[in-house]
Amino acid sequence: MPETKHSLSQPSVETANHKKISPSSRYDVVIIGGGAAGTACASSLLKRTKQLRIVIVEPSEHHYYQPGWTLVGAGVFTQAQTIHKTADSLPKQVTWIKAEATTIDPYQRLVSLSNKEQLNYQTLVVCPGLSLNWQAIKGLPEALGQQGITSNYHLDFAPYTWQQVKSLSKGKAIFTQPTMPIKCAGAPQKAVYLSCDYWRQQQHLAQIDVEFHIAGAALFGVSTFVPALQRYIERYGVNLLYNSNLIEVDVNTQTAYFSQTSADGQMETIGKPFDFLHAVPPQQAPAFIRSSPLSNAAGWVDVDPYTLRHNQFDDIFSLGDVASTSNAKTAAAIRKQAPVVAENLLAFLKGHSLTACYDGYGACPLTVEHGKVILAEFGYDGKLLPTLPLNPTIARRSYWQLKTHGLPFMYWKMLLKGHEWLAKPKQRPAEATPKHQTQPSAPSHSNKQQS
Ligand SMILES: Cc1cc2nc3c(=O)[nH]c(=O)nc-3n(C[C@H](O)[C@H](O)[C@H](O)COP(=O)(O)OP(=O)(O)OC[C@H]3O[C@@H](n4cnc5c(N)ncnc54)[C@H](O)[C@@H]3O)c2cc1C
Repeated sequence: MPETKHSLSQPSVETANHKKISPSSRYDVVIIGGGAAGTACASSLLKRTKQLRIVIVEPSEHHYYQPGWTLVGAGVFTQAQTIHKTADSLPKQVTWIKAEATTIDPYQRLVSLSNKEQLNYQTLVVCPGLSLNWQAIKGLPEALGQQGITSNYHLDFAPYTWQQVKSLSKGKAIFTQPTMPIKCAGAPQKAVYLSCDYWRQQQHLAQIDVEFHIAGAALFGVSTFVPALQRYIERYGVNLLYNSNLIEVDVNTQTAYFSQTSADGQMETIGKPFDFLHAVPPQQAPAFIRSSPLSNAAGWVDVDPYTLRHNQFDDIFSLGDVASTSNAKTAAAIRKQAPVVAENLLAFLKGHSLTACYDGYGACPLTVEHGKVILAEFGYDGKLLPTLPLNPTIARRSYWQLKTHGLPFMYWKMLLKGHEWLAKPKQRPAEATPKHQTQPSAPSHSNKQQS
């Protein structure tokens, strides 16, 4: 049961430009999470109407450009290039409450915060991202940053990745990828390619035994891209091991332990000594989402994959990494999701049908070598959705420029600011039922009926 003892007194808040204001506890839109999804969604809403009273609940002083972390781990970006102040990233017209959401009561339309305040909403947008479960790998949290053990999934350690790559000239390098879903499913292998390419340039690659352990059974989820990626695996001489899941790290003996399926189908644990280990933790929805009435069986916010509205609560929307949709969990996906949520949320407030439709677009710029990228763009069911009419499986220098210059610009100056370039939502007829809808939409105001 959600807590009900919190007072309904007005929270102390500040606007994005730091002016103290006295808020009402009821908002047109409460957004949980001011990362890529929450900020983009607020900007897309304000682009359509300035009249909305929007509050963003976001605990962090800093906004991180996570797609840049792979490049920090490869010495291309500095840490600082991926960090902006949250106050500078949020639209000026929103109210920012610097706290964490702790519980959501969709029946009372209440969000409880870590500062013991409560917010009452007319509509709720849930986008607190996902949680990295470092603890799931025994010994890893305390080992990071020592003995060559690193991860680009933690900004503190991405510079250490680059330091260790530069200092390795022989020995064993191990890279890992956990069970899906994870954010940017291509990021674990981007670390493999960029590290190997550096070792190749330094003529060290022949002395380094490289292994890439994948917990699943495929190199990449969209089969079109696998042959091109496989060629890079072979070019770098990487030993690819499927169904091999990192479960423990021993920092003292520099040994990684993997759970693997043996030839006779038995699970066994294999220990591998290493000189360098790039580990990626398993990922899940944040605990307060998993324990809320909003989650599906797997813990993600249970939304219609096309409208991005909650399947049970009509006044709740979700986008970004926490949503149950099967798209690639990427900032690229949010570029297409934010306008859809903005249009559908405003339609809901006006009592209209929801017609804006998300096609599952996501993109993964696979940095297969320094200076070249394979740009994988695809939607639901792995349907290829290339922005440009070019063969998407070819590694291109122009896409490296896009990755290192174009996309960061688009993120900070367009996505977060509500400039929806090439992101106009597709429309569907008001009464149509999309063929992939997993559950029928709940009746209007179904949350009221359950309160
Ligand atoms: C190493 C790496 C490489 C990547 N590469 C790419 C790439 O090349 N291309 C690409 O498009 N994407 C890439 N991504 C993925 C991309 O960064 C994410 O998909 C995107 O940031 C998700 O946005 P989000 O808003 O859902 O979550 P986030 O951006 O993580 O934001 C979530 C926000 O919610 C806040 N929050 C958390 N809990 C609470 C709470 N209880 N209450 C209130 N607020 C809360 C957090 O402080 C955070 O600010 C990469 C990610 C990583 C880690």
